[in-house]
Amino acid sequence: MTTIDDLPIRDDLRGQTPYGAPQLDVAVRLNTNENSYPVPEAAVEAIAKALQAELADLNRYPDRDAVALRTDLAAYLGHGLTAAQVWAANGSNEVQQQILQAFGGPGRTALGFGPSYSMHPLLAAGTGTRWIGALRDPDFGLTPAAAVEQIERHRPDLVFLCSPNNPTGTALDPEVIDAVLAAAPGMVLVDEAYAEFARPGTPSALTLLPGHPRLIVSRTMSKAFGFAGGRLGYFAADPAVVDAVQLVRLPYHLSSLTQAAARAALAERDALLATVDAIKAQRDRIVSTLRSRGVRVADSDANFVLFAVPGTASSAGEPAVGDQRAAWQAFLDRGVLIRDVGLPGWLRVTAGDPAETTAFLTAAEEILS
Ligand SMILES: *Cc1c(COP(=O)(O)O)cnc(C)c1O
Repeated sequence: MTTIDDLPIRDDLRGQTPYGAPQLDVAVRLNTNENSYPVPEAAVEAIAKALQAELADLNRYPDRDAVALRTDLAAYLGHGLTAAQVWAANGSNEVQQQILQAFGGPGRTALGFGPSYSMHPLLAAGTGTRWIGALRDPDFGLTPAAAVEQIERHRPDLVFLCSPNNPTGTALDPEVIDAVLAAAPGMVLVDEAYAEFARPGTPSALTLLPGHPRLIVSRTMSKAFGFAGGRLGYFAADPAVVDAVQLVRLPYHLSSLTQAAARAALAERDALLATVDAIKAQRDRIVSTLRSRGVRVADSDANFVLFAVPGTASSAGEPAVGDQRAAWQAFLDRGVLIRDVGLPGWLRVTAGDPAETTAFLTAAEEILS
Protein backbone atom coordinates (compact mmCIF):
# COMPACT_ATOMS: atom_id res chain seq x y z
CA MET A 1 0.00 0.00 0.00
CA THR A 2 1.26 3.45 -0.87
CA THR A 3 1.53 5.90 2.01
CA ILE A 4 2.16 9.65 2.05
CA ASP A 5 5.80 8.93 2.83
CA ASP A 6 6.18 7.09 -0.49
CA LEU A 7 5.10 10.21 -2.38
CA PRO A 8 7.31 13.15 -3.31
CA ILE A 9 5.30 15.35 -0.98
CA ARG A 10 6.66 18.70 0.31
CA ASP A 11 9.16 18.04 3.10
CA ASP A 12 7.36 20.44 5.42
CA LEU A 13 4.14 18.42 5.16
CA ARG A 14 5.77 15.09 6.00
CA GLY A 15 4.60 13.70 9.34
CA GLN A 16 1.77 16.21 9.71
CA THR A 17 -1.75 15.10 10.62
CA PRO A 18 -4.88 16.64 9.07
CA TYR A 19 -7.45 18.58 11.09
CA GLY A 20 -9.55 15.83 12.56
CA ALA A 21 -12.48 16.43 14.85
CA PRO A 22 -14.05 12.95 14.92
CA GLN A 23 -17.39 12.87 13.06
CA LEU A 24 -18.95 9.98 14.98
CA ASP A 25 -22.54 8.84 14.77
CA VAL A 26 -23.50 9.62 18.36
CA ALA A 27 -26.86 10.84 19.69
CA VAL A 28 -25.44 13.91 21.42
CA ARG A 29 -22.75 15.63 19.34
CA LEU A 30 -21.22 18.54 21.22
CA ASN A 31 -17.70 18.49 19.76
CA THR A 32 -17.45 21.01 16.91
CA ASN A 33 -19.35 24.03 18.24
CA GLU A 34 -22.06 23.66 15.66
CA ASN A 35 -25.43 25.28 16.30
CA SER A 36 -27.64 22.36 17.44
CA TYR A 37 -30.83 23.93 16.15
CA PRO A 38 -31.88 22.97 12.61
CA VAL A 39 -32.47 25.79 10.12
CA PRO A 40 -35.99 27.13 10.82
CA GLU A 41 -38.66 26.22 8.27
CA ALA A 42 -39.16 29.79 7.00
CA ALA A 43 -35.43 30.12 6.34
CA VAL A 44 -35.33 26.71 4.64
CA GLU A 45 -38.04 27.91 2.27
CA ALA A 46 -36.33 31.24 1.59
CA ILE A 47 -33.00 29.51 0.87
CA ALA A 48 -34.68 26.93 -1.37
CA LYS A 49 -36.33 29.71 -3.37
CA ALA A 50 -33.06 31.58 -3.74
CA LEU A 51 -31.26 28.43 -4.90
CA GLN A 52 -34.04 27.59 -7.35
CA ALA A 53 -33.67 31.01 -8.94
CA GLU A 54 -29.98 30.30 -9.67
CA LEU A 55 -30.32 26.85 -11.20
CA ALA A 56 -31.01 27.77 -14.83
CA ASP A 57 -27.97 30.09 -14.78
CA LEU A 58 -25.51 27.48 -13.58
CA ASN A 59 -24.06 27.44 -17.10
CA ARG A 60 -22.53 30.80 -16.16
CA TYR A 61 -19.72 31.49 -13.70
CA PRO A 62 -20.78 33.21 -10.48
CA ASP A 63 -20.07 36.86 -9.69
CA ARG A 64 -16.34 36.55 -9.08
CA ASP A 65 -16.36 39.39 -6.57
CA ALA A 66 -19.60 38.40 -4.80
CA VAL A 67 -20.53 42.07 -4.56
CA ALA A 68 -24.18 41.61 -3.59
CA LEU A 69 -23.27 39.18 -0.84
CA ARG A 70 -20.47 41.42 0.44
CA THR A 71 -22.91 44.35 0.50
CA ASP A 72 -25.33 42.30 2.61
CA LEU A 73 -22.54 41.17 4.95
CA ALA A 74 -21.36 44.78 5.40
CA ALA A 75 -24.92 45.81 6.28
CA TYR A 76 -25.13 42.97 8.81
CA LEU A 77 -21.85 43.98 10.46
CA GLY A 78 -22.82 47.65 10.72
CA HIS A 79 -20.08 50.02 11.94
CA GLY A 80 -20.57 51.96 8.69
CA LEU A 81 -18.81 49.24 6.69
CA THR A 82 -19.25 48.92 2.93
CA ALA A 83 -18.74 46.08 0.45
CA ALA A 84 -15.27 47.43 -0.38
CA GLN A 85 -14.19 46.61 3.18
CA VAL A 86 -15.67 43.11 3.30
CA TRP A 87 -14.49 39.88 1.67
CA ALA A 88 -16.16 36.46 1.71
CA ALA A 89 -15.04 32.89 1.04
CA ASN A 90 -15.99 29.28 1.75
CA GLY A 91 -15.79 29.49 5.52
CA SER A 92 -13.55 31.70 7.60
CA ASN A 93 -10.95 28.96 7.21
CA GLU A 94 -10.66 29.85 3.53
CA VAL A 95 -10.65 33.56 4.33
CA GLN A 96 -7.73 32.99 6.69
CA GLN A 97 -5.94 30.80 4.17
CA GLN A 98 -6.21 33.62 1.62
CA ILE A 99 -4.81 36.08 4.17
CA LEU A 100 -1.86 33.75 4.73
CA GLN A 101 -1.36 33.34 0.99
CA ALA A 102 -1.22 37.12 0.60
CA PHE A 103 0.68 38.11 3.74
CA GLY A 104 2.49 34.93 4.81
CA GLY A 105 4.18 32.24 2.73
CA PRO A 106 7.71 30.87 2.48
CA GLY A 107 10.23 32.94 4.41
CA ARG A 108 7.51 34.58 6.46
CA THR A 109 6.09 33.92 9.92
CA ALA A 110 2.73 33.91 11.65
CA LEU A 111 2.31 34.00 15.42
CA GLY A 112 -0.61 32.94 17.60
CA PHE A 113 -1.16 32.63 21.35
CA GLY A 114 -2.00 29.08 22.37
CA PRO A 115 -4.08 27.39 23.41
CA SER A 116 -6.12 28.69 20.50
CA TYR A 117 -7.80 27.53 17.30
CA SER A 118 -5.91 24.51 15.94
CA MET A 119 -6.57 25.52 12.33
CA HIS A 120 -4.40 28.65 12.54
CA PRO A 121 -1.09 26.71 12.60
CA LEU A 122 -2.46 24.19 10.07
CA LEU A 123 -3.35 26.97 7.63
CA ALA A 124 0.10 28.44 8.17
CA ALA A 125 1.68 25.06 7.41
CA GLY A 126 -0.39 24.64 4.26
CA THR A 127 0.78 28.00 2.95
CA GLY A 128 4.44 27.43 3.85
CA THR A 129 4.31 30.07 6.57
CA ARG A 130 6.48 29.33 9.61
CA TRP A 131 4.30 29.17 12.73
CA ILE A 132 5.42 30.70 16.01
CA GLY A 133 3.55 29.25 18.97
CA ALA A 134 3.39 32.12 21.46
CA LEU A 135 1.60 31.49 24.74
CA ARG A 136 -1.32 32.75 26.74
CA ASP A 137 -0.92 32.98 30.54
CA PRO A 138 -1.33 29.74 32.53
CA ASP A 139 -4.91 30.82 33.40
CA PHE A 140 -5.54 31.22 29.60
CA GLY A 141 -5.67 35.02 29.87
CA LEU A 142 -3.48 37.30 27.78
CA THR A 143 -2.21 40.62 29.10
CA PRO A 144 -1.12 43.47 26.80
CA ALA A 145 2.42 43.24 28.23
CA ALA A 146 2.74 39.49 27.61
CA ALA A 147 1.38 39.81 24.08
CA VAL A 148 3.65 42.72 23.19
CA GLU A 149 6.74 41.05 24.66
CA GLN A 150 6.26 37.94 22.51
CA ILE A 151 5.50 39.96 19.38
CA GLU A 152 8.57 42.15 19.84
CA ARG A 153 10.70 39.06 20.36
CA HIS A 154 9.55 37.36 17.14
CA ARG A 155 8.44 40.25 14.89
CA PRO A 156 5.99 38.08 12.92
CA ASP A 157 4.53 39.04 9.55
CA LEU A 158 1.05 38.09 10.76
CA VAL A 159 -0.44 37.84 14.27
CA PHE A 160 -3.49 35.69 14.92
CA LEU A 161 -5.76 36.66 17.80
CA CYS A 162 -8.95 34.80 18.58
CA SER A 163 -11.72 36.54 20.52
CA PRO A 164 -13.74 34.91 22.00
CA ASN A 165 -10.91 32.40 22.04
CA ASN A 166 -11.44 28.79 20.98
CA PRO A 167 -11.00 26.51 22.96
CA THR A 168 -10.86 28.56 26.16
CA GLY A 169 -14.03 30.58 25.49
CA THR A 170 -13.05 33.97 26.83
CA ALA A 171 -12.99 37.21 24.81
CA LEU A 172 -9.86 39.36 24.75
CA ASP A 173 -9.73 42.67 26.52
CA PRO A 174 -9.78 45.37 23.78
CA GLU A 175 -6.60 46.78 25.38
CA VAL A 176 -4.79 43.63 24.25
CA ILE A 177 -5.85 44.14 20.65
CA ASP A 178 -4.83 47.82 20.85
CA ALA A 179 -1.42 46.89 22.22
CA VAL A 180 -0.90 44.17 19.60
CA LEU A 181 -1.82 46.59 16.81
CA ALA A 182 0.72 49.07 18.12
CA ALA A 183 3.49 46.48 18.52
CA ALA A 184 2.98 44.22 15.50
CA PRO A 185 5.18 44.97 12.51
CA GLY A 186 2.78 43.22 10.12
CA MET A 187 -0.86 42.24 9.79
CA VAL A 188 -3.12 41.41 12.76
CA LEU A 189 -6.06 39.08 12.27
CA VAL A 190 -8.73 38.83 14.97
CA ASP A 191 -10.79 35.67 14.53
CA GLU A 192 -14.27 36.53 15.85
CA ALA A 193 -16.03 33.29 14.89
CA TYR A 194 -18.03 33.43 18.14
CA ALA A 195 -18.66 37.20 18.34
CA GLU A 196 -22.45 36.84 18.42
CA PHE A 197 -22.26 34.79 21.63
CA ALA A 198 -20.14 37.26 23.61
CA ARG A 199 -21.44 38.41 26.95
CA PRO A 200 -22.93 41.93 27.00
CA GLY A 201 -20.36 44.72 26.98
CA THR A 202 -17.78 42.78 24.96
CA PRO A 203 -16.78 45.08 22.10
CA SER A 204 -15.88 43.72 18.66
CA ALA A 205 -12.52 44.51 17.09
CA LEU A 206 -14.61 46.00 14.26
CA THR A 207 -14.64 49.19 16.36
CA LEU A 208 -10.86 49.42 15.86
CA LEU A 209 -10.90 49.26 12.05
CA PRO A 210 -10.84 53.04 11.41
CA GLY A 211 -7.19 54.11 11.31
CA HIS A 212 -5.84 50.54 11.42
CA PRO A 213 -5.26 49.35 7.82
CA ARG A 214 -3.31 46.29 9.04
CA LEU A 215 -6.23 44.96 11.11
CA ILE A 216 -8.43 42.16 9.77
CA VAL A 217 -11.53 40.92 11.63
CA SER A 218 -12.79 37.54 10.47
CA ARG A 219 -16.29 36.20 11.07
CA THR A 220 -18.28 33.15 10.04
CA MET A 221 -21.86 32.08 9.46
CA SER A 222 -20.94 28.60 10.75
CA LYS A 223 -21.77 29.15 14.41
CA ALA A 224 -24.38 31.73 15.43
CA PHE A 225 -26.18 31.54 12.07
CA GLY A 226 -26.29 27.74 12.19
CA PHE A 227 -24.95 27.71 8.63
CA ALA A 228 -21.84 25.51 9.01
CA GLY A 229 -22.86 23.32 6.06
CA GLY A 230 -23.34 26.40 3.86
CA ARG A 231 -19.63 27.26 4.21
CA LEU A 232 -19.55 31.02 4.40
CA GLY A 233 -16.91 33.05 6.20
CA TYR A 234 -15.90 36.65 5.73
CA PHE A 235 -13.66 39.41 6.98
CA ALA A 236 -13.80 43.17 7.39
CA ALA A 237 -10.66 45.24 6.83
CA ASP A 238 -9.28 48.17 4.91
CA PRO A 239 -10.24 48.05 1.19
CA ALA A 240 -6.54 47.54 0.38
CA VAL A 241 -6.63 44.20 2.23
CA VAL A 242 -9.60 43.16 0.09
CA ASP A 243 -7.55 44.12 -2.98
CA ALA A 244 -4.66 42.01 -1.65
CA VAL A 245 -6.66 38.78 -1.24
CA GLN A 246 -8.00 39.14 -4.77
CA LEU A 247 -4.44 38.46 -5.94
CA VAL A 248 -4.50 34.96 -4.43
CA ARG A 249 -8.12 33.78 -4.37
CA LEU A 250 -9.19 31.28 -6.98
CA PRO A 251 -11.40 32.87 -9.61
CA TYR A 252 -15.08 32.08 -8.92
CA HIS A 253 -14.19 30.57 -5.53
CA LEU A 254 -17.71 31.19 -4.17
CA SER A 255 -20.32 29.28 -6.17
CA SER A 256 -23.53 31.02 -7.23
CA LEU A 257 -25.37 28.56 -4.98
CA THR A 258 -23.28 29.51 -1.95
CA GLN A 259 -23.72 33.21 -2.64
CA ALA A 260 -27.48 32.87 -3.08
CA ALA A 261 -27.94 30.64 -0.04
CA ALA A 262 -25.87 32.93 2.16
CA ARG A 263 -27.78 36.02 1.01
CA ALA A 264 -31.09 34.31 1.73
CA ALA A 265 -29.82 33.22 5.15
CA LEU A 266 -28.70 36.78 5.91
CA ALA A 267 -32.13 38.09 4.95
CA GLU A 268 -33.59 35.56 7.43
CA ARG A 269 -31.14 36.53 10.12
CA ASP A 270 -33.76 37.33 12.76
CA ALA A 271 -35.02 33.75 12.60
CA LEU A 272 -31.54 32.23 12.38
CA LEU A 273 -30.00 34.29 15.17
CA ALA A 274 -33.02 33.70 17.41
CA THR A 275 -31.23 30.60 18.71
CA VAL A 276 -28.27 32.60 20.05
CA ASP A 277 -29.95 33.57 23.32
CA ALA A 278 -31.16 30.02 23.90
CA ILE A 279 -27.63 28.70 23.33
CA LYS A 280 -26.13 31.32 25.65
CA ALA A 281 -28.60 30.23 28.33
CA GLN A 282 -27.42 26.61 27.98
CA ARG A 283 -23.78 27.76 28.06
CA ASP A 284 -24.37 29.67 31.29
CA ARG A 285 -26.25 26.66 32.68
CA ILE A 286 -23.23 24.43 31.96
CA VAL A 287 -20.84 26.94 33.56
CA SER A 288 -22.90 27.43 36.71
CA THR A 289 -23.82 23.76 37.16
CA LEU A 290 -20.24 22.55 36.77
CA ARG A 291 -18.95 25.28 39.09
CA SER A 292 -21.57 24.40 41.71
CA ARG A 293 -20.12 20.88 41.66
CA GLY A 294 -16.60 22.20 42.21
CA VAL A 295 -15.39 21.76 38.61
CA ARG A 296 -12.95 24.40 37.28
CA VAL A 297 -14.47 26.17 34.29
CA ALA A 298 -13.13 28.97 32.08
CA ASP A 299 -15.39 32.01 31.57
CA SER A 300 -17.15 31.70 28.21
CA ASP A 301 -18.17 34.32 25.66
CA ALA A 302 -18.77 31.57 23.11
CA ASN A 303 -21.14 28.66 22.47
CA PHE A 304 -18.87 26.20 24.27
CA VAL A 305 -17.32 25.68 27.68
CA LEU A 306 -13.83 24.54 28.64
CA PHE A 307 -13.74 22.61 31.90
CA ALA A 308 -11.12 20.80 33.95
CA VAL A 309 -11.19 17.07 34.55
CA PRO A 310 -10.47 16.34 38.22
CA GLY A 311 -7.19 14.59 38.84
CA THR A 312 -4.97 13.49 41.65
CA ALA A 313 -1.80 15.47 42.33
CA SER A 314 1.30 13.48 41.43
CA SER A 315 3.41 15.22 44.06
CA ALA A 316 2.70 17.69 46.82
CA GLY A 317 2.29 21.25 45.59
CA GLU A 318 1.85 20.20 41.95
CA PRO A 319 -1.52 21.05 40.41
CA ALA A 320 -3.62 17.96 39.80
CA VAL A 321 -3.99 17.32 36.06
CA GLY A 322 -6.89 15.03 35.24
CA ASP A 323 -6.82 12.45 32.47
CA GLN A 324 -8.88 14.20 29.81
CA ARG A 325 -8.54 11.32 27.36
CA ALA A 326 -10.12 8.84 29.75
CA ALA A 327 -12.86 11.34 30.63
CA TRP A 328 -13.55 12.03 26.93
CA GLN A 329 -14.01 8.28 26.40
CA ALA A 330 -16.27 8.06 29.45
CA PHE A 331 -18.53 10.74 27.98
CA LEU A 332 -18.55 8.93 24.64
CA ASP A 333 -19.43 5.67 26.38
CA ARG A 334 -22.50 7.51 27.70
CA GLY A 335 -23.44 8.70 24.20
CA VAL A 336 -22.07 12.24 24.55
CA LEU A 337 -19.38 13.31 22.07
CA ILE A 338 -17.33 16.26 23.31
CA ARG A 339 -13.88 17.54 22.35
CA ASP A 340 -10.41 16.70 23.56
CA VAL A 341 -8.48 19.68 22.19
CA GLY A 342 -5.18 18.19 23.38
CA LEU A 343 -4.98 20.43 26.44
CA PRO A 344 -3.83 18.23 29.35
CA GLY A 345 -6.56 18.03 31.99
CA TRP A 346 -9.21 19.98 30.06
CA LEU A 347 -12.16 19.17 27.80
CA ARG A 348 -14.44 21.36 25.70
CA VAL A 349 -18.20 20.93 25.34
CA THR A 350 -20.47 22.78 22.92
CA ALA A 351 -23.63 24.35 24.34
CA GLY A 352 -26.46 22.66 22.49
CA ASP A 353 -30.19 22.54 23.12
CA PRO A 354 -31.62 21.96 26.63
CA ALA A 355 -31.91 18.17 26.17
CA GLU A 356 -28.31 17.90 24.98
CA THR A 357 -27.14 20.00 27.93
CA THR A 358 -29.05 17.74 30.29
CA ALA A 359 -27.44 14.65 28.71
CA PHE A 360 -24.01 16.22 29.10
CA LEU A 361 -24.58 17.37 32.69
CA THR A 362 -25.97 13.97 33.67
CA ALA A 363 -22.89 12.24 32.29
CA ALA A 364 -20.68 14.90 33.88
CA GLU A 365 -22.22 14.23 37.29
CA GLU A 366 -20.99 10.63 37.07
CA ILE A 367 -17.66 11.26 35.40
CA LEU A 368 -16.39 14.40 37.11
CA SER A 369 -17.33 13.67 40.72
C1 LIG B 1 -15.48 27.21 14.11
C2 LIG B 1 -14.42 28.24 13.96
C3 LIG B 1 -14.24 28.88 12.75
C4 LIG B 1 -15.19 28.59 11.64
O1 LIG B 1 -14.60 28.18 10.50
P1 LIG B 1 -15.50 28.13 9.19
O2 LIG B 1 -14.50 27.79 8.17
O3 LIG B 1 -16.07 29.51 9.03
O4 LIG B 1 -16.55 27.09 9.41
C5 LIG B 1 -13.28 29.86 12.64
N1 LIG B 1 -12.52 30.19 13.69
C6 LIG B 1 -12.67 29.60 14.88
C7 LIG B 1 -11.85 30.04 16.03
C8 LIG B 1 -13.61 28.60 15.04
O5 LIG B 1 -13.74 27.98 16.21
